[in-house]
Amino acid sequence: MVICLIVKYQKPIVIENTCNCIVDETELKNAIIWYSDKPVARIKKIFMQGNYPAVSIHGEKIHVHRLLMMYWLKRKLDTNEHVHHKDHNKLNALKENLEVIASSKHLSSHNKGKKLSKEHRKKIAEANRRRKVKYKKRVNIDLNELKSLLDKNWSINRISKYFGCDRSTIKNRIYEHPHLLGGEEQ
Ligand SMILES: [Zn+2]
Repeated sequence: MVICLIVKYQKPIVIENTCNCIVDETELKNAIIWYSDKPVARIKKIFMQGNYPAVSIHGEKIHVHRLLMMYWLKRKLDTNEHVHHKDHNKLNALKENLEVIASSKHLSSHNKGKKLSKEHRKKIAEANRRRKVKYKKRVNIDLNELKSLLDKNWSINRISKYFGCDRSTIKNRIYEHPHLLGGEEQ
């Protein structure tokens, strides 16, 4: 059964944070209202969409960090504009943690960074593991082989074709094993 709720005016939004997203809820509410051209449902759930917290606005799933950045910049982001998490924690959507970066420079900037301490990287990897993200399918990927391709600067696209799987599988594998990126958190 589909229930169609027509909202004529905006009721105060209530945020339901189901994935420990670190976010300024007032900013997020404002961003949702700014983004939508019509009133939105009163309860907005933050859920995991891939590796990132997201909200749904009139059926469009949108990552919280991208939505907020659009709101702060007051414009839509192009697909080749990535929003980088400075502390490498994908759950942290606080303003001071986010910056826009060209997609072409994004991965290389992660490799160049090398600023995170071993300890910090370990903490993030553990926290991510604890979240027990479910992966659709397990493709057998030799991590040493994957690392050598990453070292050769192969794109995720090219690597996924090489292994015969989808891009998210490769991304998840890197996500689970941050050391693959030259000892750097992804
Ligand atoms: Zn980044």
